[in-house]
Amino acid sequence: MDLAAFALAVVAYRRGLNGTVTSWGRNAGDNKAVDGVPNSRHLYDLAADVVPGAGFTAERRRRYGHSLGLWVLVESDHDHLEPLSLRVP
Ligand SMILES: [Zn+2]
Repeated sequence: MDLAAFALAVVAYRRGLNGTVTSWGRNAGDNKAVDGVPNSRHLYDLAADVVPGAGFTAERRRRYGHSLGLWVLVESDHDHLEPLSLRVP
């Protein structure tokens, strides 16, 4: 999945879950300020954070993300998305 395909998938995820994108690409300083990991994919625009709308379980969100080619890490207050193809060895 290239950057353009990732962007389309993030938009589909956000719309499908009636959510809001709260973070996407970050510069190194801002990534550090939010305690992002040093090699975060947010630095390369290949990670996005979405706060989903109400009523979607974590499992449903993970399955929906996978159907779009996204890896979904469910955090306490948002879903962190990356291209699934980058997570599979
Ligand atoms: Zn994130």
